[in-house]
Amino acid sequence: MATQKLNTKEQNIAMIASRTAKGDMDALTVALNQGLDDGLTVNEIKEVLVQLYAYCGFPRSLNAITNFMNVIRDREAHGIHDEVGVTPTALAADANREEIGRTTREELTGAPFRAAYAEFTPAIDTFLKEHLFADIFARGVLTRREREVATVAALASMNGVDGQLAGHISIAKNQGVTDDQIAEILEIARTPDAADIPFGLGVPNTANEKYFSGPSFLNPLTTDQVGVFNVTFEPGIRNNWHIHHGGGQILLATAGRGYFQAWGSAPRELHPGDVVSIPAGVKHWHGAAPDSWFTHIAIEVPGENNHAEWLEPVTDAEYNKLK
Ligand code: MN
Repeated sequence: MATQKLNTKEQNIAMIASRTAKGDMDALTVALNQGLDDGLTVNEIKEVLVQLYAYCGFPRSLNAITNFMNVIRDREAHGIHDEVGVTPTALAADANREEIGRTTREELTGAPFRAAYAEFTPAIDTFLKEHLFADIFARGVLTRREREVATVAALASMNGVDGQLAGHISIAKNQGVTDDQIAEILEIARTPDAADIPFGLGVPNTANEKYFSGPSFLNPLTTDQVGVFNVTFEPGIRNNWHIHHGGGQILLATAGRGYFQAWGSAPRELHPGDVVSIPAGVKHWHGAAPDSWFTHIAIEVPGENNHAEWLEPVTDAEYNKLK
């Protein structure tokens, strides 16, 4: 069976939601223009940004809405007329929000809701039910499936919300989103923007591509005194086992999540801020985690007759043990 991709509308919703959650306004501007160019209505986009205040807070949501206002103003100034679209509906003042919210949440999750936090702090559960799952979900404009695409993309773009992300992946699947489509949302959310790579993506790393398992990017920062290179790996991409002769190498992890492994040692997971000092002569590899981009700065330690000796690839069997 052919892989079922997200449709263009859902791809745009995921991108807009992700960049809203990250608070990356430059990337959001690009995503908003792309969404409008692809036919999202103004009210559909507004609805994504309204819903997201429940998942990433008023500051992110309001910044995104202000950004969207400016995007529309710029487009109008350039003679581009965007379709407003369907008007959202409001629940009646006397609607039973508690009942509506509880029912909506059960339909989304497919099970009666139980959570210790709701008993511990009933007020937050009341707000969830009566506001998020009643007032907001009842607004229409977006389908429940589209709302969950937005939520998964937003949560996948934030740190420290793995539990909520897993919960919403499950809800999204209940709305018919397939495993492949979840993977696509996560890829959209985790693909870095310029602002995520402090020293810049650079250019496709064609000079070394035969020593890498797939696409990577190289940005030479300086070679005047010591060689300093920014290297970015796509998810799942790593370099072959290799040895730096002459001088060793220092890696400074700056973005995403990756790994380093020295021959005979366990792999070491790398996050921004981590430093790896690799002595000359030590066989090793480095690269991205299976589901994340990864960027490090590589510093060539000066030595006699510096060069890299490229060896065998890291096998899938070895690499696939990594998370
Ligand atoms: Mn190396």
